Amino acid sequence: MEFRCIQDCSQCCIEREYYPEKRFGKIGVLILPEEKEKIKQFAKMNKLDLLILPRIGISNKKDPTLIEILAFQMMGKEKNGNLCPFLNTDTDKRSPHGGFPCRIYDDRPLACKTYPLIKSDPMTLDQKCKFCKEHKTADENLDSEIESLLKIKNKMNTDAPFVWRYATGIGEEEDKFQIKTGWILEECDKIMG
Ligand code: SF4
Ligand code: SF4
Repeated sequence: MEFRCIQDCSQCCIEREYYPEKRFGKIGVLILPEEKEKIKQFAKMNKLDLLILPRIGISNKKDPTLIEILAFQMMGKEKNGNLCPFLNTDTDKRSPHGGFPCRIYDDRPLACKTYPLIKSDPMTLDQKCKFCKEHKTADENLDSEIESLLKIKNKMNTDAPFVWRYATGIGEEEDKFQIKTGWILEECDKIMG
């Protein structure tokens, strides 16, 4: 079956999840270090406020002060972490499938170009995507998503002995007591999240 966005859907640009657990807070859109400056420039050109936090770091010693950042994340603009700042909800214009338009669609981060693909072998789509909720899976029309996913995987490949994940401190008000902020030592097999 071919992958096609569901008519009028903008869910993946609006909703953010707690990952890998609630204590890490809600995650943002993954931004590779080489994408960060470009994204900041786009925000400036569009007069948008942007919050970019670290996402994944590595170190040779078990010391968070020595971390090299492998990936950042662009946080949602709402207090609870939802809603990408680049999603244009103030316009009558719509994307080709009818959702709200992305202000930087052609230059959107690789992570956006990858979604809803989360694994290429075996091909696995994020079951939270509205298409997947309706159709479970797809195996056609995903070439550019596969290419983008492989680029991210390649950039984030590491032999570093210590991998860290940044807890964002952001989430729903009622969850705040469980959510941490700052680096937490991670297991290596979870690095792509
Ligand atoms: S990728 Fe999925 S969740 Fe995102 S707009 Fe398309 S159908 Fe909706
Ligand atoms: S950058 Fe664009 S495609 Fe990516 S989450 Fe934001 S609005 Fe959606």
